[in-house]
Amino acid sequence: MRLRFAPSPTGYLHIGAARTALFNWLYARKLGGTFLLRIEDTDTQRSTDESTRSIIEGLHWLGLDYDEEMVFQSANADKHRAAALQLIDAGKAYRDFTPKAERADANVKQEIAERARAASATGTDHRSNPFRDLSSQESNTRAAAGEPFAVRLKVAREGLSTFEDAVYGAQEREHSEIEDLVLLRSDGHPLYNLSVVCDDIEMRITDVIRGQDHLTNTHKQILIYEALGAPVPRFAHLPLILAPNKAKLSKRKHGEVVSLTTYRDRGFVPAAFRNFLALLGWSPDDEQELLSREQLVEKFSLSGIHRAPAVFNFNETDARQWTDQKALWMNAEYIRTMPVAELAVMVRAELEAAGLWKPEYETTRRAWFERSLEVIRQRFHTLKDFSGQGRAYFGDEFEFDDAAVKKNLQKEPRLRELLPALAARIEQTEPFTLETCEATLRAYADEAGVKAGLFINAARTALTGQSVGPSMFEVFDLIGREASARRLRDAARLI
Ligand code: GLU
Repeated sequence: MRLRFAPSPTGYLHIGAARTALFNWLYARKLGGTFLLRIEDTDTQRSTDESTRSIIEGLHWLGLDYDEEMVFQSANADKHRAAALQLIDAGKAYRDFTPKAERADANVKQEIAERARAASATGTDHRSNPFRDLSSQESNTRAAAGEPFAVRLKVAREGLSTFEDAVYGAQEREHSEIEDLVLLRSDGHPLYNLSVVCDDIEMRITDVIRGQDHLTNTHKQILIYEALGAPVPRFAHLPLILAPNKAKLSKRKHGEVVSLTTYRDRGFVPAAFRNFLALLGWSPDDEQELLSREQLVEKFSLSGIHRAPAVFNFNETDARQWTDQKALWMNAEYIRTMPVAELAVMVRAELEAAGLWKPEYETTRRAWFERSLEVIRQRFHTLKDFSGQGRAYFGDEFEFDDAAVKKNLQKEPRLRELLPALAARIEQTEPFTLETCEATLRAYADEAGVKAGLFINAARTALTGQSVGPSMFEVFDLIGREASARRLRDAARLI
């Protein structure tokens, strides 16, 4: 079995394309097949190296390794041209000498339209091209004389094209509905359907898995396979991915939410995003949702692919819901449950990027670092949270959440005196542990005649800038004696 992912490098890697890559990869890995990468860079105006790089990076980030050497479609253009000429020789394609200027000329267009009307009135095929039945001798002579021509496939007038799609079932199309498609433009440029088929034949592709938007091309491509006398691969088309309002997800309308790099840049764990992508239009028989790479490979099947479009559930006007809610939930699950040593590698990269990393987190403070991750990861949704909401654990420069300051500090003016006094007691707590900090705080609340909750909430905001977080005594312990006392005193100045 040989499968391929064949993106056009004309921009960012769309999550729909990333999903296509993933499904091809899963199917190949499951069945011991080969997974190939082909860059379809024939549109020289729109293809860029940067886009090719982002595709390769995206695949790498998702852990989708490809076999053999990557193929660039543009390198095969001569072979595509040769195939078109071979089809002319075999009488399966023909040269269309319609001058380019004529095709554009309004008068001529009108004349062609009139001819078409007349033809349809007399029952002849109105799509008939005047060059379709030119004798091969005349066609060869005109070509030899240098007259420019496009090459069109000679599609049978009658009959039916059929194939069995692994997802959408039996597909049928009358030949009479398919135009004599252009294979080569008059400037010699091979067109998409020809190039895809030639490359798939050359790469010995046995199974084509791609987006549902290619379903109509498939009929045309099968005609090309047949004309070339090549075996036709099996096809599976994948359901669309739609926005919440059921519009097609597009960069123009939905911005960065559709680009794979966004997820890397916004702190997704690759395994979590891969897991999420796998469930966009596919589900395993047992409906299990959290699936490792190995489990995905083991459970993947074409029969689990849905026909109905997958809907991306996000809210464009709410920053907290910037992407699909299940994606965020899944990422949080991975962050919460993955081995802490693995998480530490990712958090290190995040802290380095944010200028918060200290080398001792790998050496003398390694145990502290891992315990901090263990404690703070419980509520986080992305790796960015470690340098955002979690900033206070890694340095003194952090921001205060306004609402938290109002609610937990400013509501009770007495805290202006009480917090420095609490600071003094925390400073003297010996030994300095979670339990002794708790005892100190509760004893002082009793003494001052306030509820312990007042101190707990105030201390949380003073020490971390937030109104929610891990158990407060754990926070004292992680942040340490000196910084805890200092932050309690500093917070009194905010009141
Ligand atoms: N290059 C095409 C695209 O990016 C895919 C072609 C194919 O998979 O057959 O949509």
